Amino acid sequence: MSETVDSESLRNSKWHNQQLRIECASLHVITNLMTHKKQTDNVSRLKPAPRILSRDQHNVSRDLISDNALKVLYRLKNAGYKSYLVGGGVRDILLGREPKDFDVVTDAKPEQIRELFRNCRLIGRRFRLAHVRFGDELIEVSTFRAPHHVSDQADGVVEDGRIIRDNVYGDIDDDVWRRDFTVNALFYNIEDFSIVDYVGGVKDLEEGQLRLIGDPTQRYTEDPVRMLRAVRFATKLGLRIHADAETPIFKLAALLEDIPPARLFEEMLKLVMGGSALQTFESLRHYGLFYYLFPQTDKILDTTERDYPHTFIMHALRNTDQRLAEGNSVTPGFLLAAFLWEPMRVIADNHIEHGLSEMEAVQLAGDTVISRQISSTAMPRRFSQMARDIWSLQVRLKRIKKRSLRVLMHPRFRAAYDFLLLRAQAGETINDLVEYWTEEQLSEPLLDPKRKRMKNKSSRRRRRPANSRNKH
Ligand code: ATP
Ligand code: MG
Repeated sequence: MSETVDSESLRNSKWHNQQLRIECASLHVITNLMTHKKQTDNVSRLKPAPRILSRDQHNVSRDLISDNALKVLYRLKNAGYKSYLVGGGVRDILLGREPKDFDVVTDAKPEQIRELFRNCRLIGRRFRLAHVRFGDELIEVSTFRAPHHVSDQADGVVEDGRIIRDNVYGDIDDDVWRRDFTVNALFYNIEDFSIVDYVGGVKDLEEGQLRLIGDPTQRYTEDPVRMLRAVRFATKLGLRIHADAETPIFKLAALLEDIPPARLFEEMLKLVMGGSALQTFESLRHYGLFYYLFPQTDKILDTTERDYPHTFIMHALRNTDQRLAEGNSVTPGFLLAAFLWEPMRVIADNHIEHGLSEMEAVQLAGDTVISRQISSTAMPRRFSQMARDIWSLQVRLKRIKKRSLRVLMHPRFRAAYDFLLLRAQAGETINDLVEYWTEEQLSEPLLDPKRKRMKNKSSRRRRRPANSRNKH
């Protein structure tokens, strides 16, 4: 789950004064769906009855749920706890799609969950939840929580409309209201295999619409990342964003400025690695959200609409989607290089005009665009380094017939070559380069022994004599 919000950055937020102040009394969601009412100490709690779909009324079968998720559900149940599958797992199966992962929710507290599973780690600051690991598969197990406005006690903290801490435990009929979209708030009960629907999520799935739970402005203000999630789910699942959830996005997009860059990076990865990157990109641009992920790129696209930079990015994203559809790997470093290629080139051209060599210019410009980018989406160094390598290699790939062997042996050669192809596809007149490097690779078998020799040679050169170690 990706809901952590950094309280420091929220406090410093320049949006503070513009935020809608959410009062505990504003129980929009619940008043809309009221069926009966119960008083607690100082907050009125209204508890609607859910629609229950029995096993014969839906297609979620245990065959479609991963063995590990079932193991977690059953172990919790056998220990006397309630346990439900929730979120994307239920939603995707109902849509006839294969879920990406499985999320479980229970009335067991995090420490109680940990007692049941050896392979379990508790994580999270804003709210604690358990990660139960089975090899490559991670099952996320969270405890029912009340939305902040249902309880004003203890650990639920709202600051200027944002949730900054959210550890108030509740029951299933509390937990449902803190979820984002109706289609994400469907619970599959392992007790009787029924689906529990408090918010009309099943109907929304049938009608193909993505609807926020509660008042959209309030829910986006609480957590602006929900705007990115709206675009991601709508595109990936072919759902229409309901007008009520769509309209405020244009107005509230700028709230993303206050989201910690590390969280935005995580979201950005999900947006571009979900298999429909191209459509997602167009949609993010449409809603004015793309700027908050890639401000430098967005500015250039605004002034060069439909020209080379746009075509280039479209090719990069289409390739990404294709590779994923064919089961090939995609690296974020490559996409980063593609998104920032044009901003980098503009700066590099300027350096060249001022007398720097092309290589120096590209390296310097690369540093500049990366350091600007990480204030929007902070990323692990290996990705930014890959983008830098790809760009520098573009310069080296221009010097044909000169030191090709070294370039071919560069660990990033393949990525740089793919990048070159992309540039050609997007209309750059570099076909001679593409042909040359394609040929060079075809003669690769002949190069093998030499490669080996060079490798040995270079590793010999790099090795320092034992007695010179630790002297520097
Ligand atoms: P997928 O895993 O396919 O990307 P998902 O819906 O399972 O989609 P997760 O990020 O795994 O998304 O979160 C699991 C569930 O937790 C969601 O379905 C939703 O109910 C809830 N959730 C996650 N993020 C948020 C959020 N920012 N605001 C409210 N609820 C959220
Ligand atoms: Mg999920």
